[in-house]
Amino acid sequence: MMGKPHAVAVPFPGQGHVLPLMELSHRLVDRGFGITMVCSEFDKARILAALKKEDDQRCIEGISLVAVSDGMGTDDDRGDVGRLSKFVMGADFERFLENLMRQLNEREEEKVSCVIADVCCSAALSVAKKLGIPGFGFCPAAVADLALCLHIPKLVESGFIADDTGNIVEDQTFRITPTMPEMSTSYFGLNGLSASSKRTVFLLMDEVCRVPTLTDRILCNSFRGIESPALDSIPQAVPIGPLLPPKRAVTKAVPHFWAEDSSCLTWLDQQQDRSVIYVSFGSFSVLNQAQFEEIAAGLEQSGRPFLWVVRPNLMTGSAVVYPENFLDRVGERGKIVSWAPQQKVLAHRAVACFLSHCGWNSTLEGLSNGVPFLCWPFMGDQFLNKNYICEVWKIGLELKAEEKGIITREEIQRKIEELLCDDRQGIRTRALKMKETAEEAVGGGGTSRKNFDDFVEEIKRENL
Ligand code: UDP
Repeated sequence: MMGKPHAVAVPFPGQGHVLPLMELSHRLVDRGFGITMVCSEFDKARILAALKKEDDQRCIEGISLVAVSDGMGTDDDRGDVGRLSKFVMGADFERFLENLMRQLNEREEEKVSCVIADVCCSAALSVAKKLGIPGFGFCPAAVADLALCLHIPKLVESGFIADDTGNIVEDQTFRITPTMPEMSTSYFGLNGLSASSKRTVFLLMDEVCRVPTLTDRILCNSFRGIESPALDSIPQAVPIGPLLPPKRAVTKAVPHFWAEDSSCLTWLDQQQDRSVIYVSFGSFSVLNQAQFEEIAAGLEQSGRPFLWVVRPNLMTGSAVVYPENFLDRVGERGKIVSWAPQQKVLAHRAVACFLSHCGWNSTLEGLSNGVPFLCWPFMGDQFLNKNYICEVWKIGLELKAEEKGIITREEIQRKIEELLCDDRQGIRTRALKMKETAEEAVGGGGTSRKNFDDFVEEIKRENL
């Protein structure tokens, strides 16, 4: 094979999966690769629509977005992980990938040098294997979460999980290795999903277990400084993170599913250093009205400036209704946007803490900027990430629900004060130190940087 290496990147169709794989793709383009990224027709349309005018198509130069139908209607809920899982496990998706790779291989200049597939898209690795193309897994979540998925057969064997339904027989806590954080079978519980969706998601996790048999390398959006024990537990895992946009001369496109509202950056410019509470629950998590009102009241009572992301689909089945006169009362002290440029927000000097659902990308973005956390996990791996933040790295506090499952305004106000008033527990100091550790990993001589360089060189060598 000659010329430019060409990688086919296959993300799972979720915002938290597409963003880091696109960042990895940008880095490969910077190193002379051509990239074909596969996404659903729906996601391609919303990514292009959300790109700012000045970004437009040119910013994804070197990356060609190839779209496949996800089989859903325009109005169907793309937040339903069950339906998305069904799509990536379906025969149509696998057939599409095989045709695509065969077609690319027919053109000398587009011959596929390697496939990089989200661990949730094992079909892409099967196709790569079948066609004799080197295939690599990509883990956009914590390596400990991958270790948990790979542990499923043992949990089934030991009777903690009922075979193939994913139903938890009894809530159990366990450790995969003595040095890894404690885990619980309840991390498989996916709130708000129908029984059939839950089962599909469980089948998907089971598919993830096949990944180590399909590849000898899984590129992980993580780094040694935070996850050494988990990395050591999976021989194929290679950390190359945190994959966050560097300060490049040319701005590259970020594939947001919603248009970002940059007015919050101007608002942040007007706030004092380390004064603002940033509140965001990622792209999937949803709230009911009672909980929404408690957050509003908690932020109001805190008396501090806040920036709150209220996504268009944040509420379960209803429109957003703020408490009466809430917006008038908080006035300029509160800034609400429907989608923030989160990575820029967290890097802003005015941000004091991050009230987060603890998605892995949000976790990495907060810790890479030295921002302490108020943790509010909703489902799945977010509980595991919360354990890392609060118990292992000790860079945040957990918000605890009262008996009815609601996190009250008093709890929110109390924890904000505890985190921000003084640094008796050393949380802020450790968070700032964490920023340095993250920078070291991807800086010159860092392990993640070296792993990435080695990977690039290997593909280039094989491409000769
Ligand atoms: N995000 C963003 N703007 C927002 C909220 C979220 O850009 O207003 C990004 C955030 O920076 C992160 C991703 O969306 O990269 C969410 O991924 P994460 O793994 O944190 O959570 P998920 O959405 O998968 O639950």
